[in-house]
Order: sequence, then structure tokens, then C-alpha cells
Amino acid sequence: MNKLRINSFFNPIYVTRPLFPDISRIVEKLEDIWKSKWITNNGSQCKILEKRLVDILKTSYISLFNNGTSALMIACKALELSGEVITTPFTFSATPHSLTWNHVEPVFCDIDPVTMNIDTSKIESMITTRTTGILAVHAFGIPCDVLAIQKIADQYGLKVIYDAAHAFGVEVGGIGIGNYGDMTMMSFHATKLFHTAEGGALICNNRDMKEYIDILKNFGMKNEENIGMFPGINGKMNEVQAALGLSMLDLIEGEIRKRKKIVDFYRSRLRDIEGIYFQEDMQGVRYNSACFIIRIDEEKFGKSRNYVYDQYKKYNVFTRKYYSPLCSEYPHYKDLPSSHPKNLPVATKIVKQVLSLPLYGDLSIHDIEKICDILIEIRNS
Ligand SMILES: *Cc1c(COP(=O)(O)O)cnc(C)c1O
Repeated sequence: MNKLRINSFFNPIYVTRPLFPDISRIVEKLEDIWKSKWITNNGSQCKILEKRLVDILKTSYISLFNNGTSALMIACKALELSGEVITTPFTFSATPHSLTWNHVEPVFCDIDPVTMNIDTSKIESMITTRTTGILAVHAFGIPCDVLAIQKIADQYGLKVIYDAAHAFGVEVGGIGIGNYGDMTMMSFHATKLFHTAEGGALICNNRDMKEYIDILKNFGMKNEENIGMFPGINGKMNEVQAALGLSMLDLIEGEIRKRKKIVDFYRSRLRDIEGIYFQEDMQGVRYNSACFIIRIDEEKFGKSRNYVYDQYKKYNVFTRKYYSPLCSEYPHYKDLPSSHPKNLPVATKIVKQVLSLPLYGDLSIHDIEKICDILIEIRNS
């Protein structure tokens, strides 16, 4: 065994670190909550946050949730999805699970080798008489081909839901990402760029739908007189979550700027390493630099992704293999006809190559430099 030459980090470096606003900013808002004695059920913090997010995300209607997964489950319910829905296997487990919880069968479609999002040229061949929708994911905040997806949906009369868990603040052609499709889910989990510890939202494009969503997330209750209108669940965000979100909103633009710098630095250092690939920016997209994903081609790089992942740990660097395994490899999905690796050649290849490198605003350029140097040392080890 070669000895490590680069010293390992003294403190562990994780793939991300939640944004923490100055504590005085949240204390102020908590004092308002304590004075009002109103701590959940659409209180003033939630109302203010909804209004501010409508502006920031350049959308029309937003409904806040206790987490992104319950928001996605309600999206499927509100759009009355049934039968089969075409989705991607290269995503977090919550995406297909939200379909399963609605008794809808996920049909896995292969992904594009560049964007790693659903391959729009393969969607049509997956449509059957049972297909009712497309659930696409803007993986790592990188937008899907939203125009191609809409074209197919219009042609076949399908609903479109986007899992935009990581896509806070992303814009395509100057338009907020949440305006595409029938409904968009965002997650405000602590691992996402903007967060409320746990939390999420549904974005839709008309008032009636927002009202319906608000009823569904509140047990199906419209008000004191109209109870049990629909079989809803409890998906409400509480006031403490909303206060945390509000106290952090002003930090987001600065955080995105810092992360962009880090991503640029990663790219400049890794661009010429044989066997290491990453996505370049597409024209017309405003990115949020939520994640930085590299792909390791074992043949060219000389070491496998799993080897790199394990070795990084020895330097106290904790990368992640997002999103491995594919959802189509989970025990309860692997026997679906669409889960066969022959149907998913690109996803099957890519899932063995991806590695999420540490990215958050407080990482210093010196740390990034070291993370890149370690990768070279791992290759040469
Ligand atoms: C984080 C995430 C979710 C789940 O969001 P929660 O708020 O944690 O429930 C769903 N889909 C994707 C792609 C995610 O990254």
C-alpha cells in the first residue's frame, strides 16, 4: 500500500452542509410566533413565506408542505393519476414511491447521457393505453427538456409533474422552472439549497388547483363547516419551519454565487483529467449550483467510482453516490417490465460512474483544491 501523501482533513468534509442563518434572525420571528400563540395551520409566517416564494420563484401559486414527499404524493392525487406514469429510474426513492402510494405503476424510461434526466426521445415508446402522466425529475437541479416533454404530453393528453426537489431558483428561458408542466414539487429539506429543516412546496398554475391542494393537505377540510370534502392527509408546514425559511431567504442569492464560484473552480481543476467528466452549462438556463456531480470512467481513469468513494473517506471526505442504486433496482420495482436493464442501458451505465463532490458556500477554495488533489492522488495510488 502506498502511504497517503496529502494529509486527511482534520474535520470531516460532507457532501453538503445546511445553510444556517444568523440565529438572531430566527429568534425575532420566533418571538412573533410566541406572541401570536399561533404555531401551525396556515399562520402568518406561512402566509408571508408563500407570498415571498411566489416572487422569488417567478410563479403564480404555491402551497407549502411539511416535506417534499408528501407534496409529491398530493400532486399525484390532485391530478388524478392512475394506471401507469412514465418516470426516471435515476432519482431519489421518493419519486417512484409517491406513485406507488397512489396505486400508480412507475414505468421507468431511460435517461439522457448528458443531462442524466429522462430521455425525451424514448418517452413515446413507453406510452400505453394505461399511461396517464409523466413524472420527470430535474436531477441535481439540472432542467429537463421541458418543451419536448410538454409536446409529448399535449399530443397524448398526459399530465406532467416535475420533481424539482433540487431546482430552487432555476430558470429556463427567463421563466421560473415551476411554471412548466401541470405541477412542480420542491423540497425544502436541510440538504437542499433553500430549506426549512424539513419542508416542501407544490407549484401550480391556477387558483382552483391551489385551493384544492390546500384542502387535500389539510385532511380534506375546507373550513370548520366543510369537513371531509375529500379524503386528504396532513401535509401542512408549521410556523417554526416557515420562520426558519423566511430568515434564510436573503442568503440564497449569495449562497448561489459562492457555489457557482466553487463549481467553476472544480471544473477548471478537473477538466483535463482523463476519465473524469461533468456537465457544462446549457445556454438559456439560470443554474442554482445545487450539486456538483462528476462521472468516473473506470477504463480511462484507472480506478472505479466505488474505489474513489472509499478512498476519499480515508481523507475524511464523504462524497455520495447519488442516485445509486437505480430505483428500478429496488427489490419492489426490479421485476417490473420497464426495470429490465435492457430498457435502461444509459442509466445502468451512468449509475456506476456518478459521484457527488462536496459543495456548499462555506467551503474554501483551498479545500476544493485539496479535494481535487486527493482525486489525483487516488488515481495514482
Ligand atoms: C430530496 C428529494 C426528495 C424528497 O424531498 P423531502 O423533502 O426530503 O421529502 C424527492 N425527490 C428528490 C429528487 C430529492 O432530491
